[in-house]
Amino acid sequence: MASASGSFCGVCEAQDVVNEAAVWCPECNEGICTSCEKHHRASRGTKHHEVTSMNDYKQIPHTIANINQYCPEHDKKYQHYCSQHEKLCCPSCITKNHKKCDLLVIDEIIKTSKGSALFDIMEQSLKEIKKNIERIVEDRRQNLEAIKHQRQRFHADIKETREKINKHLDKLEQDIQQDIQVAEQKVISQINRFVQKVSDHGKTIDELQKNIAATKRFATDLQTFFGGKMFESKIQKEEEFMMSLIKDGCLQQLNLHWRVDAKMSDILSMTKIGEMSVIPKPSTISVTTDREKQAQQMIPKIPKTINDIHLTLLQKIEIPKREHRIVITGCTIMPSGKIVFADQLNDRLVIHNENGLFVCETPVSNCPVDVTCIDENTVAVTNNADALLHRNIQHRQ
Ligand SMILES: [Zn+2]
Ligand SMILES: [Zn+2]
Ligand SMILES: [Zn+2]
Ligand SMILES: [Zn+2]
Repeated sequence: MASASGSFCGVCEAQDVVNEAAVWCPECNEGICTSCEKHHRASRGTKHHEVTSMNDYKQIPHTIANINQYCPEHDKKYQHYCSQHEKLCCPSCITKNHKKCDLLVIDEIIKTSKGSALFDIMEQSLKEIKKNIERIVEDRRQNLEAIKHQRQRFHADIKETREKINKHLDKLEQDIQQDIQVAEQKVISQINRFVQKVSDHGKTIDELQKNIAATKRFATDLQTFFGGKMFESKIQKEEEFMMSLIKDGCLQQLNLHWRVDAKMSDILSMTKIGEMSVIPKPSTISVTTDREKQAQQMIPKIPKTINDIHLTLLQKIEIPKREHRIVITGCTIMPSGKIVFADQLNDRLVIHNENGLFVCETPVSNCPVDVTCIDENTVAVTNNADALLHRNIQHRQ
């Protein structure tokens, strides 16, 4: 079979003539020029061959165009398809490798393939996937848009908060400045009042000094004697006044004091005014597949509630009878698939294999209530008194 490149007429090429191919015959597996095509259409051997225009043929993807009708190994036409090996087979292939395989006659299966629902489904699936991609891309784009808005809002929020803090601090500063001023004024007037009082006493002392000097110089002895007593009592009063100043704490040094509030120090020790993080939220986008159109796959899946659970009886397990009535109060499934039952009235654990057949049993005390798997060789058993661990349960008889 001539393996024409496709661009030139295979028939002419065989006669060393170069002619551009006008059509492609998949049966002959070669291109055919306009003049050879007339013979091809008329000749008894080839008149039923369906040809494709070269333009159309070139549009077929390479991998598909390379699927040949002839077996390259035996140069015979493929007649069967082996579904086990998923291979096209010529008669020689069958004898060699597929004698025992299930073979399908190609003519029969290909009749339906082109118009078959499979291609419709595939095309529909691709459309659906494309729609999903568009939806996902759009969803991501919207996400980006949302993030942009969030960023802008945060910027504004931070600025607004900052302005509020500034205003608040301005007000606090004004308040404390005022407080300081008020405190100073209070101290000033207190000290002034005091100085005034002390000065008044100073005047009294001046007066006394003057009077004593005059009395000393000009008064009679009798006057001096009695006057001296009067002056003495006045001086004593002034001394008492001086002592009272010390006693009443009037001479204490007054100081203004200011201490920064602890919360102000907290602000200064702050290293950041907020925390940034990215928080993923469950997606609301739905991804649909054509094959399971009814089952719209929401991401994430809505968890099933207990009402959605429907039980189906798979198997009945026969548990061997013992002295007492069998009362199964608990069971557990081991990693290997073995099932362990707690039989309360017979004080035992009963072990069945993954197919439900009895393997062995092991005695336990005090009416077991429930049993749960810890690992393949250990179960925990509760009874009415306590919880017990049982190891190597499968090996005990
Ligand atoms: Zn030709
Ligand atoms: Zn042909
Ligand atoms: Zn073959
Ligand atoms: Zn096979």
